Amino acid sequence: MLQLNTPVTKLSMVGYTYAARLKNLGIETIQDLLYHFPFRYEDFSVISKIINLHSGEKVTVLGKINSIGNIYTKHGKMIQKASISDETGETDVIWYNQPFLINLFKKNPFVSLSGEVKWFGHKLILESPDYEIKRAGNDLIHTGRLVPIYPETAGISSKWLRTRIDAILHKFFLQIPEYLPANFLTHFQLIGRKQAIYQIHFPKTNLDAESARKRLSFDEMLILQLAAKIRQNLWQKERVGHKFQITPYKLQLEKFIDNLPFKLTSSQQKAVEETLADLAKIKPMNRLLEGDVGSGKTVVAAVVMYLAFLNGFQSVLMAPTEILAQQHYQTIKKLLKGYHIKTGLITGTNKLADNSYKVIIGTHALISEKVHLANLGLIVIDEQQRFGVEQRAKLREKGVNPHVLILTATPIPRTIALTIYADLDLSVINEMPKGRIPVKTWVVPVEKRMAAYAWIKKRIINSKHKDQVFIICPLIEESESLTTVKAVKKEFERLKNDIFSDLKVGLLHGRLKARQKDNILTDFKKGKINILVSTPVVEVGIDIPLATIMMIEGAERFGLSQLHQLRGRVGRRSKQAFCLLFTEIQSQSVIQRLKLMEKVFSGPKLAEYDLKIRGAGELFGTRQHGQIKFKIADFSDLSLIEDTKKATSLLLSCDPKLLSFPLLQEETKKYTIKPITPD
Ligand code: ADP
Ligand code: MG
Repeated sequence: MLQLNTPVTKLSMVGYTYAARLKNLGIETIQDLLYHFPFRYEDFSVISKIINLHSGEKVTVLGKINSIGNIYTKHGKMIQKASISDETGETDVIWYNQPFLINLFKKNPFVSLSGEVKWFGHKLILESPDYEIKRAGNDLIHTGRLVPIYPETAGISSKWLRTRIDAILHKFFLQIPEYLPANFLTHFQLIGRKQAIYQIHFPKTNLDAESARKRLSFDEMLILQLAAKIRQNLWQKERVGHKFQITPYKLQLEKFIDNLPFKLTSSQQKAVEETLADLAKIKPMNRLLEGDVGSGKTVVAAVVMYLAFLNGFQSVLMAPTEILAQQHYQTIKKLLKGYHIKTGLITGTNKLADNSYKVIIGTHALISEKVHLANLGLIVIDEQQRFGVEQRAKLREKGVNPHVLILTATPIPRTIALTIYADLDLSVINEMPKGRIPVKTWVVPVEKRMAAYAWIKKRIINSKHKDQVFIICPLIEESESLTTVKAVKKEFERLKNDIFSDLKVGLLHGRLKARQKDNILTDFKKGKINILVSTPVVEVGIDIPLATIMMIEGAERFGLSQLHQLRGRVGRRSKQAFCLLFTEIQSQSVIQRLKLMEKVFSGPKLAEYDLKIRGAGELFGTRQHGQIKFKIADFSDLSLIEDTKKATSLLLSCDPKLLSFPLLQEETKKYTIKPITPD
């Protein structure tokens, strides 16, 4: 018997060709198809008598095709011209170049047509309407209603999807599971899940669609929160961590902080205090430290790693790439200098001989089975979004319930951070070290492009500045596909040959081998390259001291907080840095949005603008965050977050392991945040 998890190939109406195409949409099982939700509806719900047709209306006409045939225009184009009648009158219909309609309608003259009413010479006609044969007992799905429009792919149209989804909805309706108890639904004013799935595809009214959306978003957000909360409970209840001593080392810690090459900002100070408070507890710390690029998270990590050392524990710092690990290794070694702490580096190419190191910096090579850390007390993970939950868990298993501190520069509003990382406590560094000058930012008008190149050239050649430059080309598709790499290569060639032919121009993209990437970044760091053309993969925390100009192409394709992160890669010193934003799009709203970058210099502020402007998942959407991809829920929906938070504590307070909700429990288990393996 067919079940929800049966592959679509088993459906009589989907062959292997279509199955392969469906895979492009992430659809492999019958359930995936049911959960392929429309992103909008075409409103063809007004059904009109022919006598009442008015030009400019979008309507549906139900009637009988009386005649249909081909005619040719003056330019030799083929048109199908038909006449349709109902009990009130008769009107003409035309389609362009669809000769197969003639046979279809001759055999099935009773039809429903949805489209726009237009003047054609002196007559009102329906132009290229969507059509559907009326059959007794069958509801209309393509016309005469709110018609669902789906994400499509080559060879799979919305009409095709609609037909299949309609059929399986009828067949599998009863198998759609309900996760939530009835009193819950009443309390949160939700409709049943079966009904919701039906209505999201085929709503009678916009209100129907809205209540379906509400219910399905609720489920997605709820499951995310339940999964995180259950992780947290496991982590904190069933394990006992290492309690660090602080009081006996208070003086030493103070001295360490006093001896730093700079004074900690008050946010850094606060983050250190919050972290220390965690370390003194009996349950293991699980804390997220969020702060803009350049806000100084590394030194906070160094302070707590020093405390781990004083307590006799090893600590590790894991970075997402080799070059970042190297950079951290140099920084941390400098900060710990003079304290006699054996510090080592573990990467794919660099192993440690024995277990005598107290502080270990590394890449994900740290996770590899061969690395033994007998006395691990603290783990620091940099740029968390690059690592998945599973990788974090694996690293934890290296020690006995070590404390974990995660550093991230992804600026996300607090509500959202607390949702996504419900299993983490949060510290925020919300100020920059003193003396940091904001990166001067301009949205460059199209006509000033050449002038901008000339200015850049001057800054590079000028011996007083010797500026280094990033030129970022946008991702053309969702991930760094071949198309994107091709585009960046082409731009690189153009810049190298036509614009900056007397300068050294380098190219960096994600498809290069790790070794090649490192070489290029090292050359750039050493000043052997003046201009680095790159996709947005440029490692987030990379520190190129002389890079002071960041030029971004296709800026409209980025979120403001993404632009801010890119801009954070220049101007890490007290030297004035510049960010030039280019866009070919002339729309007022695009320019206005980008112009915010000229005035706003706080990551979280810009993230909030992103939410407000792009809101409800439109275009780039807030449905995605790092590795979390919602089908329908939206991180900018604060009341949804509130409601599901309440629901989470309600459910878990009476049933912490969801034993009486096996379906929900199963869903939360499925909820793994996929790790990205850094190359
Ligand atoms: P991020 O938060 O992006 O990881 P880093 O830790 O790399 O930032 O710090 C960026 C730069 O700021 C480093 O060169 C660091 O030495 C410097 N820095 C950190 N804290 C301070 C401070 N309180 N005062 C002055 N400079 C600081
Ligand atoms: Mg950093």
